[in-house]
Order: sequence, then structure tokens, then C-alpha cells
Amino acid sequence: MKTIILQKGREDSLLRFHPWVFSGAIKTLPEDIEDGDLVRVASIDGKVLGLGHYQVGSIAVKMLHFGSEPVAIDEAFYARRIAAALVVRRSLGLLRDDNSAFRLVHGEGDFIPSLVVDMYGHTAVMQAHSPGIHFDRDKIAAALMSLPDGLVKNVYYKSETTLPFKAQLDPVNDYLIGGEDVDDVAIENGLRFHIDWLKGQKTGFFVDQRENRCLLESFSCGRRVLNMFCYTGGFSVYAMRGGATLVNSVDSSAKAVSLTDANIALNFADDGRHKSFAEDAFKFLDHMETGAYDLVILDPPAFAKRKSALRNALIGYRKINAAALAKMPAGSVLFTFSCSQAVSREQFRLAVFSAAAQAKRRVRILHQLSQPADHPINIYHPEGEYLKGLVLWVE
Ligand code: SAH
Repeated sequence: MKTIILQKGREDSLLRFHPWVFSGAIKTLPEDIEDGDLVRVASIDGKVLGLGHYQVGSIAVKMLHFGSEPVAIDEAFYARRIAAALVVRRSLGLLRDDNSAFRLVHGEGDFIPSLVVDMYGHTAVMQAHSPGIHFDRDKIAAALMSLPDGLVKNVYYKSETTLPFKAQLDPVNDYLIGGEDVDDVAIENGLRFHIDWLKGQKTGFFVDQRENRCLLESFSCGRRVLNMFCYTGGFSVYAMRGGATLVNSVDSSAKAVSLTDANIALNFADDGRHKSFAEDAFKFLDHMETGAYDLVILDPPAFAKRKSALRNALIGYRKINAAALAKMPAGSVLFTFSCSQAVSREQFRLAVFSAAAQAKRRVRILHQLSQPADHPINIYHPEGEYLKGLVLWVE
């Protein structure tokens, strides 16, 4: 196995279990090293600090194991890590007759950097975010199949958009295991959703909003709800169950709007309270009547995919929130989110503060929201925190 030697004194973060080695910390890189290689990482005095996958770029190694004792990174290794992740999900009460959608593996948060696995019924949808995980995909699929109680029957690999483009791996989205007669309906808190892992965004569904959707349900009774950036209509379906008098869902993608309509039909067939619109959010807010909705959800895509986009992202959050706040009646509630990892909790809150000031509204924070427990944050890897939200009372 090839060994990467760190610069003097640069081992500290690994001794603290931070799972990444940045390229600037490296003193010597083996000449024949290739994207995705499993490597040993050692300090300048030759002490082995652990094993990880090498990749070209500023994050040069993603660590899989810490310590000097040798460990095989094989199917059994992945099976141990994934089984441990499953224990946590069971403890969280996420495997129930009325709940079959949850995140089983959340990358660094489950000690398998760059691997995401979402469960939808008996189908595991797997995403690789590094070449190393891509090369190990069959071992990981086999490890998923070894979970108890026949939990996994199909493994769908969906990494066409998640792997570094420069690595030129040309991954193909397809079933690694199973794939015949697959049921595409998953259940979340008793509500049913068609999950389009073949063509949908991410793994087909945003499991990370599950708890926030539950909270939204509890605010919905008697309210007129606007679900902006609805995608599969998750918030809309919960609002319907919560007793909203009217639910409107908006997304610029016609595909998303048809997914929302299908999910409403699956749970509330022939219910006249829901209507969806394929339209740009800013345009919709611009021509929307003042006072039309008293519960509004703003869950836009990540405005800042990287740090360099931060300034424009904050302006984007301010504008969209100001546009909504300006037209909300007194006594209304706004659920507003940012899923940009590059935007901190404080920066997001400041953007919403500026929006409230710009709209000249009195606003109070009722809840400060985050990602759910099946998206755990490794305490040594604060970068794993990405979802933040505020529930605001608007006067
Ligand atoms: N709230 C959703 C997830 C939102 S993902 C859920 O709980 O599942 C973000 C969505 O915003 C995508 O579906 C995307 O199509 C949509 N979108 C992106 N830009 C938009 C715009 N300018 N106007 C309206 N929708 C937009």
C-alpha cells in the first residue's frame, strides 16, 4: 500500500480524528499514486496515523480508519460500519411499519466519508462522493445486502452527478443488486411518497426535512399554506394532513410539480384543497396577492455550493425572505431554510434579519431547526452540519 507523508506538525488534526487530509498538509506523495487509491497516512517521523482514500484536489485524503494497526478495507469493514449506522437508526425509531424512508449512512457522520445511503422500503439508494468509494461500490452493495432481517433487497447506485467531474469515472446510474418489480412507494410518518431515484434530485427525496415537515404539520390547521420550492411536495402532504384549508405548491421544474401532484394524489385523492404551479419563485412572490397565505415554506436549493458563492447566496436568502415577508399577513408563520453548507447558522440568521428589516415586519423566532438525527454530525467534522431553518412568527 502506498504511503503519504505529512508535513512536520500536520498530524494534529488526524490525532483529533478529523476525517480529511488537505493537500497543503502533505510533504510527500508517492509518484505513482492515483485517484481513489487506498493509502496509508504517516507523520514525518514515520508513525502511521491511519488509512484513507486518496483523491486529486484540495481534500487529498478521506480517512476510513485511524491508528497504526492494519485493517482491511473490505466488504466486512463496510458491513461493520453500516451495521453500526443501522443500530443508531433503530434507536431513533426510524424503522417502523409506518416509516420506511430514512438515511442509513451519512458520510463522515457515520465514519464512511463520501458515502450516502438512503433507504426507501427495501431499496438502498447509494451515492459516492469520492473515487475511492466509487471503486468500492460492489463491496458496499454486498455489505448492505448482509444487513439483518432482509432489510435491503435492491441497491441502486446513483453517482452520475456526485463524483468529481475531473476524475472522468463516467459512473452509470443503475441497480447494482436487484431491480425487478421494485416498489417505488416509501412511507414517512404514515404518509406515502413515490420516490423517483431513477431521475429525481439527490437520492430521489429529501429525507433531511422529515422532522421539520412534522413540525409544519402541527402549524397547519386552518391555515392557507404556500410551499415554495416544493420538489416532491413533502411539506405540502404534511400540511394537508395537518388540516390546512388550502395548499399551494410552487417549483420552477415541471417534473417536480408532477411529482408533487402524484404524492398529493397518493395520500389525498380528489381533495380540492391542493393546487400546484410550475413557476419561478421570485416571479410567483412578485405577483402573489398580499395576505394570500398565512403559512409559508421557503426551502430553496443550496444558493452557495461553495465558499466563493457566499456573498451572492446571502443576498439571495435576503431577497427571497424579504419578498415573502412583505406579503404575509399579521399572525402568519414562515418556515425558512438554507441547505448551503458554506452558509453558517449565524450568517443565515443575519440574512433573514436583514430581510425582516427590509420588509419592515416585526418577526420573532419560534424554532431554530436543523438536520435530523439520521444525518448525524461527527463532532470532529463540523463541516457536516448543513441544514438550518427558522420558524418565524410574523406580525
Ligand atoms: N422542499 C423540498 C426540497 C427543495 S429542493 C422538499 O422538502 O423535498 C429545491 C427545489 O427548488 C428543486 O425542486 C428545484 O427545482 C426548485 N427550484 C430551484 N430554483 C427555483 C426557482 N428559481 N423557483 C422555483 N423553484 C426553484
